[in-house]
Amino acid sequence: MMGKDVGLECTACGCRHFLVDRTVKHENTIVRYRSCRHCGKRVSTRESMRITKATKPKRRN
Ligand SMILES: [Zn+2]
Repeated sequence: MMGKDVGLECTACGCRHFLVDRTVKHENTIVRYRSCRHCGKRVSTRESMRITKATKPKRRN
């Protein structure tokens, strides 16, 4: 349920149209800065990246 921006909604006006100002990549996190297309309210969302090299392969018998 988390990590998707489908349900993102402006807390000020309730519209769901956001313009992505910029995307900043951190070590394990992606931060997206958006501004509401309707009222201009700025919202930042964080998405955690999966570290593929840290995952252990699953073995099935
Ligand atoms: Zn708005």
